Amino acid sequence: MANTAAQPRERITNFTPYEMKKGEEYMSAEMLEHFKQLLLQWKQELMEEVDRTMHHMQEDAANYADPSDRATQEEEFSLELRTRDRERKLIKKIDQTIDRIDKDDYGFCDQCGVEIGIRRLEARPTATLCIDCKTLAEIRERQTGI
Ligand SMILES: [Zn+2]
Repeated sequence: MANTAAQPRERITNFTPYEMKKGEEYMSAEMLEHFKQLLLQWKQELMEEVDRTMHHMQEDAANYADPSDRATQEEEFSLELRTRDRERKLIKKIDQTIDRIDKDDYGFCDQCGVEIGIRRLEARPTATLCIDCKTLAEIRERQTGI
């Protein structure tokens, strides 16, 4: 079984949490810049992962000369392709989020308009819903089975 098809990085692990200054407005220019840098860093890490996956696949292709290993190889490749697909989708989402930051349309819930919150955004910089709306959406998803 493939053991290398890791999940794409769903979040950034290595960053300095933003410290709001006294009287600072939510989503100040500085704060927006903080999240933009966070997203750029995340994107960079994901792109490096994509590169690694590709290299790994090329190495594997060379290693499996024996036909009996081909089924395993195919399984492994399809797993890695799925990982790459997820990585590509995440990168696209990151690009869209950076675009919203540039348009000064970031950090507020798409559904109800409240502040999503710095800590939640740091855990999930591509979030477009506040935790309440997100929870509700997930309950609905489960109920309708989509
Ligand atoms: Zn909301």
